[in-house]
Amino acid sequence: IESKLPNVGITIFTKMSKMAQDYGAINLSQGFPDFDVAPELIDRVHYYMKKGMNQYPPMAGVASLRTAIADKVQRCYDVTIKDTEVLVTCGAIEAIFNSIGALVHSGDEVIIMNPAYDAYEVIINLQGAKAVGVNLRPEDYSIDWEAVEQSVTAKTRMIIINSPHNPSGAILTEDDLIALEKITEGTEILVLSDEVYEHIVFDGQEHHSVLRSEKLRKRSVATFSFGKTFHATGWRLGCLVAPESLMAEIVKIHQYNTFTIHAPSQYAVADYLAIPDNYLSISSMYQQKRDFFLEALKDSKFKAIQSNGTYFQLLDYSQINDKPDIEMAEWLTKEVGVAAIPTSVFYQSGEDRNVLRFCFAKNETTLKAAAEKLKDL
Ligand code: PMP
Ligand code: GLN
Repeated sequence: IESKLPNVGITIFTKMSKMAQDYGAINLSQGFPDFDVAPELIDRVHYYMKKGMNQYPPMAGVASLRTAIADKVQRCYDVTIKDTEVLVTCGAIEAIFNSIGALVHSGDEVIIMNPAYDAYEVIINLQGAKAVGVNLRPEDYSIDWEAVEQSVTAKTRMIIINSPHNPSGAILTEDDLIALEKITEGTEILVLSDEVYEHIVFDGQEHHSVLRSEKLRKRSVATFSFGKTFHATGWRLGCLVAPESLMAEIVKIHQYNTFTIHAPSQYAVADYLAIPDNYLSISSMYQQKRDFFLEALKDSKFKAIQSNGTYFQLLDYSQINDKPDIEMAEWLTKEVGVAAIPTSVFYQSGEDRNVLRFCFAKNETTLKAAAEKLKDL
């Protein structure tokens, strides 16, 4: 058959996790924790299963969860949203897929920042639209807004931002949001703000959600992931927040895609969200892990690039060798016993900066064992 996506293969995350398994390497590649979900959250899922909440929940999500999400948005971003502006999705990826699918037309252009999470371009291309890449600044992965402005054309339908940023760990500032307000003001450009790591921000810094901006909120979809926040990437539970005009289009796709999400976990997460510390405490937990990993590597030849958020750490290995990063990631997995993600796959140009991404959402014993293998290279 004629492929609709001839240039798309298996994702790098699946590829590297499989290679880690095949070679018995410590897996710091695909982003997921090696510690478990809180027992009380698991108990709540079990409770709702036994209570009989096992049939189709409402299409947009159970009422208690939509309300809990709106309350969390109020608490974290100081903005009042209606429950009808919340949609519960199958992971953040369904939120991203449905938003691009509903809002981007064939022939449109969508601006993405390179390096970008690999899913965006594929989903854009599926709509018959084009991803226009703007390179982040090489020194700190910040956004060059002048370059963004220069990339806007009459065909630009959407700009995708991602903070905290995968793979770099860079975070947007208030000034970034002001720059985006200026670029989009008076246009019909929409914003997709991928905020799956919203609760993982380090060193006392704040997450600047697009929802904080009155001007941006009217034209934005913000996407979130309970998989990231509650160490449950396998539950596939996420959500999006969008104004009702955009939501009306997005639900048209959601209702014929997943239609609705696993009911017992929705009820359980609603209860769990009622205790703010359950999500507010994860920044410090991950900061400790970042610092532990970096301390264990401090005498190595890897050069750490500042991670301000997410559970990823970029390491520059140019003092060790000059292998292309894909080759280096494979070599590390097979010969050294640690799997990581090459970052060139996040660039449309395949740009290779001799940098690998390591996931530190791991127990200290795992991080220590990995660092032991890496530090003598
Ligand atoms: N966006 C980014 C930037 C991500 O890193 C991920 C997951 N790694 C997703 C979206 C998808 O999140 P989920 O697992 O909730 O679908
Ligand atoms: N988003 C995760 C990462 O960056 C992977 C998700 C996936 O494997 N689809 O590692």
